Amino acid sequence: MSDLNQSEDIYIAKQELEKKKEKMAKDQVEVAAAEKKKQQELHYMHCPKCGSQLVEIGFRDVMIDKCTGCQGVWLDTGELEQVIKDKSFLNNMLEIFK
Ligand SMILES: [Zn+2]
Repeated sequence: MSDLNQSEDIYIAKQELEKKKEKMAKDQVEVAAAEKKKQQELHYMHCPKCGSQLVEIGFRDVMIDKCTGCQGVWLDTGELEQVIKDKSFLNNMLEIFK
């Protein structure tokens, strides 16, 4: 085998290796995305503490997620700030869940 053929063999093998590595990286991204989707479907609107179903109640532009199991209350991003701004909010919220 000539030196030229040998270096071509190495080049082809390296190319194949790179292609396989790229495919593996792509597959890992797809698996991670599928796993994330599965986790979201499994846990969506379930209490992070006890796993019971959450019910969503809208009150003054805030969507309150209330656990049907442990009675915990969950707020989405930015909603705690809204609740703090409105001084009567918490008392009124307690009235709803009495
Ligand atoms: Zn709960």
